[in-house]
Amino acid sequence: MSRILIVEDEAHLAQGLRFNLEAEGHFVETAERGEDALERLLKKRQSFDALVLDVMLPGKDGFSVARELREAKNYIPLLMLTARGRPEDVLKGFESGADDYLPKPFNLNILIARVESLLRRKNWTHNTNSITADRPQQNPDSPDIFRFDNRIVDFRNLQLRAGENVVQLTVMEADLLRYLIKNSGHPVSRKSILQDVWNLHEETDTRAIDSFIVRLRRYIEPKPSKPRYLLTVRGLGYQFVANPKQ
Ligand code: CA
Repeated sequence: MSRILIVEDEAHLAQGLRFNLEAEGHFVETAERGEDALERLLKKRQSFDALVLDVMLPGKDGFSVARELREAKNYIPLLMLTARGRPEDVLKGFESGADDYLPKPFNLNILIARVESLLRRKNWTHNTNSITADRPQQNPDSPDIFRFDNRIVDFRNLQLRAGENVVQLTVMEADLLRYLIKNSGHPVSRKSILQDVWNLHEETDTRAIDSFIVRLRRYIEPKPSKPRYLLTVRGLGYQFVANPKQ
């Protein structure tokens, strides 16, 4: 049985979600306000396996709640409920640290499937030392672990180790990095990133990608302002280089 916290101010929707997730055998609690969720998760340190977080809430909105959680190093798997037809909300959600999103109104079966998929990945948050504990070998057939220079990306628990620093990636950051690595040596356009990584086909301001790149550079580049691994290709997009020339 997993413990799920739902933050949704529309009572009928919150109750419907609770009923259906309980029917799947989960323990569910609901909160109407983001502040309440923050208090339970950060202050009282109540333990949940997944968080379903609405964007539109009285008081703090879902973006702020997600951001505060991640800033406090709480990496609870987080599904954000966004308004349909607002791709900028989706990107804002990812930027604030959401792991997945579902536009409203949604089909309950789809929501349950998404929550189950988040729960399957819940061991992300429990293995914070696995990279330091073992010495993973690079396996070209396995995309789980990728090494370049003295950096290791472990896609199993979404951790990136650069020298002494271990960074916990969000799923979206990890997906973007995996995509760039998969296309090593080739420039990829912002538009392909939106479509292939995040499944966003609407006309979206592609500059939203840039802030993700800035974050990844901060994690992997010795000098983020002079990138060696994650290059900007003028007029094309971005390119990952695993072995830059010295
Ligand atoms: Ca709402």
